Amino acid sequence: MDKRTAHRAQLPRSFHKAGMRAGAAALLALLAACASKPLPPWPDNNRPPVANVPRPLGIGGAPEALRSAPPVSTATPVPVPVPGSLSAPAPAVAVTPVPDPSAAAPAATDTTPPYSAAVAARYPDPAIAYATPGLAAGRDTFTTNGEVSNWLRQLAATNAADPNRPRTTLLNLGQSQSGVPLEALVLTRAPATDPASLIASGKPTVLLVGQQHGDEPAGSEALLVVARELAQGLLEPLLERMNVIVLPRANPDGAAVHRRVTANGVDMNRDHLLLRTPEARAVARLLRDYQPVVTVDAHEYTVVGRYLQKFGTIQKFDAMLQYATTANLSEFMPRASEEWFRRPLVNALQSQQLSSEWYYTTSTDPKDLVISMGGVQPDTGRNVNGLRNAISFLVETRGVGIGRMHIQRRVHTHVTAIVSLLQSTSQRADELGKLRPYMDKEAAGSACRGEAVTEAGPTPQRRALVMLDPATGADRSVEVDWNSSLQLRTIKSRARPCGYWLSAASTAVVDRLQLLGVQVMRVAEPGSLLGEIYRETSRGDGVRADVRGTISDGEQPTVKVEVELVRGVLDTPQGSYYVPLGQPLANLIMAAMEPDTQNSFFANRVQDALQNQARVVGEPTVRLEAVQ
Ligand SMILES: [Zn+2]
Repeated sequence: MDKRTAHRAQLPRSFHKAGMRAGAAALLALLAACASKPLPPWPDNNRPPVANVPRPLGIGGAPEALRSAPPVSTATPVPVPVPGSLSAPAPAVAVTPVPDPSAAAPAATDTTPPYSAAVAARYPDPAIAYATPGLAAGRDTFTTNGEVSNWLRQLAATNAADPNRPRTTLLNLGQSQSGVPLEALVLTRAPATDPASLIASGKPTVLLVGQQHGDEPAGSEALLVVARELAQGLLEPLLERMNVIVLPRANPDGAAVHRRVTANGVDMNRDHLLLRTPEARAVARLLRDYQPVVTVDAHEYTVVGRYLQKFGTIQKFDAMLQYATTANLSEFMPRASEEWFRRPLVNALQSQQLSSEWYYTTSTDPKDLVISMGGVQPDTGRNVNGLRNAISFLVETRGVGIGRMHIQRRVHTHVTAIVSLLQSTSQRADELGKLRPYMDKEAAGSACRGEAVTEAGPTPQRRALVMLDPATGADRSVEVDWNSSLQLRTIKSRARPCGYWLSAASTAVVDRLQLLGVQVMRVAEPGSLLGEIYRETSRGDGVRADVRGTISDGEQPTVKVEVELVRGVLDTPQGSYYVPLGQPLANLIMAAMEPDTQNSFFANRVQDALQNQARVVGEPTVRLEAVQ
């Protein structure tokens, strides 16, 4: 008798039946909740898009497939876990404690509460209690890396033994810098769990990522709950409409010591273009191979710290939300993100009495009072996944710096948000199946045409934000300078080439591009191309920065150059490379290749010298072969 059976056997039979019935009814209700309030016809409504990401040039009108999409309705309340359902009295998987270095990690509990009882009283526990190893009563550490691994393995093993359950396979994505396995769970009704089988299923694949920042535990705990409910619980029916990959803990080394960055001090959520860390490379392989259509990145944000210092306030919102906001995205990306996903998500949170706001943060400089939405640089998971043409969501709960306070509520917020995003994927599965190929084609079809933005910034605004009085816990409205990432300002743009030529020496660039999923060609015989070389007009040391300040990556300064483009005929030796922009990842390629930007491969020394690369401005006539 396993632990689960043993535990359940102690409970009256009727308890389970009632709990399951209530749970199933709740789930059916939410699955069927195609209620009353139809959205305006999409995408031809007259409402201005909420996020004015610059419209790509050369593309007009809506895709035909989307025009003909059937009218849709919005789900009223949400994918809400109900008491007695997701909150199984014991974990549905037996979790055997194993020795794990992170068990010895500093306790995540702070001895002194970071704020007054009046503030704390604003955050009562939810009506549901989640049961993961790290949430057990009396624990002072979150789920250890060994316990995460066991949890996933148990789900896979249990489902392997039951042909009626969804296919549930553990993926080993490599190791963290200190040797902890990076593991994800694939859950699907497809005949197999390899990438080709999931893609052939014709259903959207969703990637859920937790704890890229080691000191943000709630997302990871929530993803264990979500994984269990998808594998063998209330969320299992969602797999009729989608495939899901769960990577609950992307940065186990950081988690083991309750630290934001990876073992070598790199912020892995600024590493999704450069791919310097094995942790970001593991995520890149998942994205390259499984091509998720929807991605969710679960984080926590700073509640007290610099906000108390700058504004004399405590941060209020249970959840902060943001989708991809970077240059060169399809104009349909923010619209689909907003209308299909964010609005139902806000409603879902509201129905659980959970407050939400756009994601925002502030710099670590105490004199800088500007509040910024999540940044616009193509380096975070949120923005890089958008450039991969995935609907990409960041979900943040109020958790950094408050130890284990309100942990059930933080987990409940993540579970509610993630289930809502899965529900929206289910409801929009058919439309997503049309939107994604459209956006892929739109990006590929832009090669050699129009302009692309190489540097964008947010739009400065003023707005009132609700924060909390630290003594009374009451709402306090604060007028702030607000950098909106929903409206991008173009700082620099240039003509979009047909592709990029790379010297034969550019193997590091080729490797990273291929890891991102980019198709790279090799020049099969000597020839020439019409191109533009970069002539350097100034050079100095630079830094990578985000809206919080300088990015923690423990690296030397970046190479900050100004360039002029000089047109001419390029000799292209055999064995050099060509990277065509006529592919779905065109905008990701441009983010890596244009050298005078803070995230480019050149600025970050992946590319040694400017003469090793050039822009190709006419369709190449040289003979090319694919690089495997
Ligand atoms: Zn974070």
